[in-house]
Amino acid sequence: MAGRAADAQICVIVAAVSLKLKIISGSAVFYVRYRRGGGYYVPSCSNGCTRSFFLKIQKTAALPLPDILIGYMQEEKLPVSFDNTEFAFKYKSDGELRQARLLFSMMGQPALVKLGTRLTPWAIKNKLPIKGLIRSTIFKQFVGGETLEETAKVAARLGRYNVQVILDYGVEGGEDSEKEYDHAAGEFIRVIDYAATQSNIPFMSVKVTGFSRFSLLEKIDRLMTAVTGTLIKRYLQVIDQLDTAEKEEWHRVRTRLLRICERAAEKKIGVLIDAEETWIQDPVDALTILMMDTFNKMTPIIYNTVQLYRHDRLQFLKDCHEAAVERNFVLAVKLVRGAYMEKERARATERGYSSPIQPDKASTDRDYDSGVQFSLEHLERIALVVATHNERSNLKAVAFLQENGLPPDHPHVHFSQLYGMSDNITFNLAAAGCSVSKYLPFGPIDDVIPYLMRRAQENTSVKGQTGRELGLIKKELLRRK
Ligand SMILES: Cc1cc2nc3c(=O)[nH]c(=O)nc-3n(C[C@H](O)[C@H](O)[C@H](O)COP(=O)(O)OP(=O)(O)OC[C@H]3O[C@@H](n4cnc5c(N)ncnc54)[C@H](O)[C@@H]3O)c2cc1C
Repeated sequence: MAGRAADAQICVIVAAVSLKLKIISGSAVFYVRYRRGGGYYVPSCSNGCTRSFFLKIQKTAALPLPDILIGYMQEEKLPVSFDNTEFAFKYKSDGELRQARLLFSMMGQPALVKLGTRLTPWAIKNKLPIKGLIRSTIFKQFVGGETLEETAKVAARLGRYNVQVILDYGVEGGEDSEKEYDHAAGEFIRVIDYAATQSNIPFMSVKVTGFSRFSLLEKIDRLMTAVTGTLIKRYLQVIDQLDTAEKEEWHRVRTRLLRICERAAEKKIGVLIDAEETWIQDPVDALTILMMDTFNKMTPIIYNTVQLYRHDRLQFLKDCHEAAVERNFVLAVKLVRGAYMEKERARATERGYSSPIQPDKASTDRDYDSGVQFSLEHLERIALVVATHNERSNLKAVAFLQENGLPPDHPHVHFSQLYGMSDNITFNLAAAGCSVSKYLPFGPIDDVIPYLMRRAQENTSVKGQTGRELGLIKKELLRRK
C-alpha cells in the first residue's frame, strides 16, 4: 500500500518535471519509462540521467523530489550514452581526427559548401585535376574506397569494435546505356558475393536508379499518381499501359533486381533498397514490396526504405504492415528521415504542387519516432533498420528494447549510421551490445560525387549536426593530449 502511494507521487512529479524540462534545456529530452518488473515509472533523459542534473531541474522547478525518486535516479542507468568519445573515435588516429576536424570546420560554412557543391560536379565533368584533393579530404571521410577490395581495410577496422557494415556501391541516377545498367546489376551481385565471405557485412544497399533509366521510373510514377487503388493495383495497371519498348525495358529492370534478390537470398545477405526522389518512388516501392512477397516469407532479406520527412509515410508504413500480414511475409524496412528535402520543396514550388515534405522538423521527428515505435511494437512481422544520426531517436529505440525485455541485438532490429558521421552513436551502441553498422559507400570518385555533395549539404543544413560532430572531435583530441 505504501508502495502504491509512492508510485502515484512519482508519476505526478515526473509529469511536472518533464513539462518543465523542455523549457530548461532544448537539447535534453525527458521521457517516462515504465519498468515492467517493478511496475513504476522512472524518468530518464537523453543526455545523462545523473543525480546532479535532476537536482538542477529540481532547483529551477522548485519541485521537491521525493526520496524514493532520488533513490531510483541513483540506481537508474540510461540505456546507453553517446558521450563517450574514447569509444567513438578509438579507431581513428590523431592525424585522422585532425583531418576530420578541419573538414567539419569547413563544412560548417554554408557559403563555402554552396560554392563547393556547385563547382565540384562541374570540375569533375570538365576533367579538371581536383580528384587528388577530393580523395584526400571529403572522399576519405565518407567513402570506403574506390573499389570493393579497398573497403576491406575499413570493414576490418570497424569489425574490431563489433561494428558491422552495409556496403553501398555508389552508382546512382542517370540516363546511361542498357550495357551500363547490366554492368551495375553485375556489380551489385559481386558485392553480395563478397559480403557473404565477410563476417561483419550482413547487408548491402541498392539504388534502383543504378540500373534503371530515371526518366522511365519518372514516367511510371507519374502514371501511377494519376490512378487510384492500392500501390500494387496501380502499379500493375500502369505497367500494362506502357508501349512495347517500354514494357521490355521495364522487364529488364525487374529482371536485374530479381537476379540481385535471388543471389542475396541464396547468400543470406540483406538488400536495402534506398529511397530517392518522390517523383520516382512509387514504382520503386511497388517493385520492392513484390520482391518482399517472394523473398521475405521466412526471414527478412529485402528491405524497403521509408522517408518519414514525407507526411504520407507513417500511413504508408502501416499499410505495408497490413499487406505483409495479409500476404504473410516479413515487412523489412529501413526508416530514415530523408535526404532530398531542399530539392523536393524547390520542385514542388517550381511546379506548383503541394510539397510532399512535412511542414517542419518537429513533424518529421514525430513521425520518425512513431514509425520506429510502430515497427518495434510489431517485431513478429516487421524487421527494422533504425537509420538515423538523431541521438534521441536512437535512445528511444534502445529504451524500448530494454523496457520490453528484448535483447539489444534482436534479429529484427538493427541500427545504422553513415560512415564518417556520428561515430559516437555507432561505437557506443556497439559497446552496449546492439546490432549496429556503418553504411559504407564505395566507387570511383565520379560515381560517388552526388553522394558526397549530399553529405556536404546535409552537414551544413542539418541544424547542429556539424557543430555536434566538431564538438565531439575536439573533445576527443583534447582528451588524448
Ligand atoms: C544508414 C542510413 C541510410 C540512409 N538511407 C537513405 C535513403 O535511402 N534515402 C534517403 O532519402 N536518405 C537516406 N539516409 C539519410 C537520411 O534520410 C537523413 O538525411 C540523414 O540521416 C539525416 O537525418 P537524421 O535522422 O540522421 O538526423 P536529424 O538531424 O534528426 O534530421 C535531419 C533530417 O530531418 C529532416 N528535416 C530537417 N529540417 C526539416 C524541416 N524544416 N522540415 C521537415 N523535415 C526536416 C530532413 O530529413 C533532414 O535530413 C540514410 C541515412 C542513414 C544513416
